[in-house]
Amino acid sequence: MLPSLFVSHGAPTLALDNCPARQFLMGLGAELPRPRAILAVSAHWDNSAPIVNRVAVNSTIHDFSGFPEALYRMNYPAPGSCELADRTKELLTAAGFRPRVDEARGLDHGAWVPLTLMYPSADVPVVQLSIQSHLSAEHHLRLGRTLAPLRQENILLLGAGSFSHNLRLMDRRRLDGPEPQWVSDFSEWMHRALMEGRCGDLISYRKLAPYAVQAHPEEDHLMPLFVALGAGGEDAAAKRLHSSTTYGTLRMDDYAFS
Ligand code: ZN
Repeated sequence: MLPSLFVSHGAPTLALDNCPARQFLMGLGAELPRPRAILAVSAHWDNSAPIVNRVAVNSTIHDFSGFPEALYRMNYPAPGSCELADRTKELLTAAGFRPRVDEARGLDHGAWVPLTLMYPSADVPVVQLSIQSHLSAEHHLRLGRTLAPLRQENILLLGAGSFSHNLRLMDRRRLDGPEPQWVSDFSEWMHRALMEGRCGDLISYRKLAPYAVQAHPEEDHLMPLFVALGAGGEDAAAKRLHSSTTYGTLRMDDYAFS
């Protein structure tokens, strides 16, 4: 059975930057059994309620500004999957969520940047599901648990955010700038809690983890982690697949849950 994944997409330039996080993602797709389709949960589609996109072919949303021209020329025309969109909606509805369907939206960069590295041929169908960052980590864990059966249906649930994500304090000029101690302290706490399966502590990370608010001034980039963790199932075992840092404050760690 496929694991659920959390990957850190960091800055949009991950698609171009030569760094260990990009190198790792470039090899990851080929290491996994080939999924029938992918359900992507990105930090960059954030709504009041869960929304799934239901399209024939995904458009590529260039939802960023001030980046190199080459990024705006990139396209990721992966097919959509009406079947997976409907199945996702069905599971969520049965669990008491009130999902909506969007029949136009494509993939934002939080989804297509890692996917273009993992599955460069864009030949695996992709459906995107939105987060609700105004709601709790627990809400996102429940969302993930509800979607755990998809793993048995050969669907890859891919959460895409950033393990730490402070844009204000990032070292914009240095891709390999030094990591501040507080980023290390936060990431180490999160890593230990994940490895020990302490879901109760994890959903209270904002109170318990050192420098949590500094590592995530907004919570949107961590919520896909909770969806992936939930999709790993009740007793999900976590495995760290990759760990590195870009621009000092963007930890690029990737995890699998199964
Ligand atoms: Zn992002």
